[in-house]
Amino acid sequence: MVIDFKCPQCGGGMEYDSELGKLQCRSCQFEQAVEDAPEIEEEEIVQELFDGSTIPDESEFSNEVEEKETSVYEEEQEFMCESCGAAIVTEPEVSATHCPYCGSAVAFGERLQGKLAPDKVIPFTVSKEEAKAGFRKWAKNGLLTPKDFMTEKRLGEIIGIYVPFWLYDMNVNAEADCNCTKKRSYRRGDYIIHETKYYHVYRRANLNFKKVPADASVKLDDAMMDLLEPYDYRRLRKFEPGYLAGFQAEKYGVDAEGLLPRIKERVNGYAQSYLKSTIKGYSTTTYNNQNSVEEKQQEYYTLLPVWLLTYEYKGEKMLYAMNGQTGKVVGTPPVSWGRVAKWISILYGGSFALLTLLAYFLV
Ligand SMILES: [Zn+2]
Ligand SMILES: [Zn+2]
Repeated sequence: MVIDFKCPQCGGGMEYDSELGKLQCRSCQFEQAVEDAPEIEEEEIVQELFDGSTIPDESEFSNEVEEKETSVYEEEQEFMCESCGAAIVTEPEVSATHCPYCGSAVAFGERLQGKLAPDKVIPFTVSKEEAKAGFRKWAKNGLLTPKDFMTEKRLGEIIGIYVPFWLYDMNVNAEADCNCTKKRSYRRGDYIIHETKYYHVYRRANLNFKKVPADASVKLDDAMMDLLEPYDYRRLRKFEPGYLAGFQAEKYGVDAEGLLPRIKERVNGYAQSYLKSTIKGYSTTTYNNQNSVEEKQQEYYTLLPVWLLTYEYKGEKMLYAMNGQTGKVVGTPPVSWGRVAKWISILYGGSFALLTLLAYFLV
């Protein structure tokens, strides 16, 4: 089922506007709250089951529901645009996009309901124009960027995408057991006294971590997503399909359980370094035992906003990314050899600057 975001006033296409925090019609500027935009109609599936058949008894019915649910996961690859009737073929990860024929914002209900229904979303607060300006500025700071790099056409290819994340509330019971010493030396009469005091130190803490994030995207590089953090999770909203209007969205490729080991490792690290911070004032510390038990309290399937620009440079795939909430930029600017020559001639003899230059190549 395709959710299209049509203007109730003129029938034109609506998109989420990051400044208004609302949907706005591209034709007549009519504004609508996301809560009032089309919902995913769960009843539709049940309706279909009853069509053209006698009403099945309870047991038959539940069987059929099960079948229907499995078929949802068979990844229908083709959807029909409600605005222009064209067939939209998408990759199986995509849950929202633009119709390539008429440009209408569409979302795919099957990929946003049941197990795939997001709990939370951080809406875009950086607009497309701001994202473009940010990239321009950033590319200028990367002094070695070739001149033809930031063309309007290239900037036009920037897309806003909601990336799937799991956020976890975790409880950690951590303990650390160590032997510590305090050493001091002082003079008494004709003697210098070296004194060592021995301590057995034990720490235990029960810690709650709220909304620890893990990227659940199959397409985007984990390291890059880590660099885009932090997001301000105080701005989390309840998910509404309207937030997707005008953006791309990807559904999770790894489920909550699949990412749990990574999260456990992370909160274990946080807990241990917390304990460590409380063991202070000793000359030496030797750990006998560090232990922790991590338990998941709750998880939230969450969509986070990212502006993305992918391009090829000298046969290599490059990627720029910007946090769609904070404007933080991550990426590597391509190096132009013409500019490098100019740089070297300017910097000739300056070893510090040459080091900087080398650092650029190593990035
Ligand atoms: Zn309108
Ligand atoms: Zn269309």
